[in-house]
Amino acid sequence: MTQGIAILGSTGSIGRTALRVLDRQRNRFHVAALTAHSNADLLREQVNEWRPRFAGLVESAGVDRSDWHTGPSALIDAVVSPDVSIVLNAVVGVAGMDATLAALHAGKRVALANKETLVVAGALAMAACEAGGGEIVPVDSEHSAILQCLGARGAADVHKLIITASGGPFREWTRDRMAAATRDQALRHPTWSMGNKITVDSATLANKALEVIEAHYLFGIPYDRIEVVVHPQSIVHSMVEFVDGSVIAQIGVPSMELPILYALTHPERVSDAGIPRFDPLVAPPLTFEAVRMDAFPALRLGIEAGKSGGMAPAVFNAANEAAVALFLDGDIPFGGIATAIERALTTVPVTGKIDLDTLMDADRQARAVVGGMC
Ligand code: NAD
Ligand code: MG
Repeated sequence: MTQGIAILGSTGSIGRTALRVLDRQRNRFHVAALTAHSNADLLREQVNEWRPRFAGLVESAGVDRSDWHTGPSALIDAVVSPDVSIVLNAVVGVAGMDATLAALHAGKRVALANKETLVVAGALAMAACEAGGGEIVPVDSEHSAILQCLGARGAADVHKLIITASGGPFREWTRDRMAAATRDQALRHPTWSMGNKITVDSATLANKALEVIEAHYLFGIPYDRIEVVVHPQSIVHSMVEFVDGSVIAQIGVPSMELPILYALTHPERVSDAGIPRFDPLVAPPLTFEAVRMDAFPALRLGIEAGKSGGMAPAVFNAANEAAVALFLDGDIPFGGIATAIERALTTVPVTGKIDLDTLMDADRQARAVVGGMC
């Protein structure tokens, strides 16, 4: 019997890569469900090839497929069915949150690319695992690396996590030059090919702040024991320093195929991942640099939001999502993204009882603050 996989966001960068990975693993897995936001043509192609029992399209206006599930609830309907063992959540943004929580409550493994879920609702996601018996296995390459470095060890054995960052396209730019960077410049990532939102996040380094918060919740490590270091080659995917001083790193060519496959098979390893093998003799020299916190205010603001806790990470995430969308539409300059995040974090109240309603209210308020800036 093969395991059923639901892929949320199958038309995106991670979703398409996942289908390439699954194509080589047909003896282990089958595709039980596919969902997309609005790319009906690609979803149709994928459905024709993979024949899932369930197909969902969130924005379905003008699409004539009575057999497809539609609207935002399609994501939740896709994950709760008994034939789904693993949910690969590759949706971008907080839109993926409800389905992650539903899958965890239903006792599923969530192979999580959608890091925004953990940033906005990390504590609720962990509680959902506890209540429903589900588990989160990270797809993000840094967190996959940390999971693999940890092996059977827990937080008590860890001195610190060292999360690597490529530094993005503006690694060597001054803050003044960056302030007016264009959309094309921000979308030209030196080592990874990804969706637009995460590519901009990698240029502001907001992505690394999201990843620090993600690591905090996934591995239960306090913020003062999570460090970010720039590693332009993207070969060392992250490291764990243990209490005795021993450091274990996970290394490989920059490809999401391995972390996606590992999130499905963890703790097992299978052959034929299909990615080029790492050869130290042809690899470039591996270098490391301190991160320039003053040049990348979105990183500093995000880590501070994580440390503040409460609603602050949700406000940080929502302001960033809204500001990146405005930047991609040409409505604010690159430097305006961090300004918008800072404005939201100083305007929206971040203390009080945390539940889904208060988090979504903070999310809405942050988006309104950012929307009012242009
Ligand atoms: P993408 O933009 O290429 O794809 C996003 C997918 O989500 C699409 O299939 C789209 O249809 C779907 N989607 C978007 N909005 C939706 C909505 N409102 N409701 C339902 N579905 C919606 O993005 P991506 O690069 O594949 O990234 C997906 C997630 O994975 C993000 O959280 C990102 O941070 C994370 N991630 C991506 C990479 C990468 O290499 N691309 C690496 C690590 C983590
Ligand atoms: Mg990452």
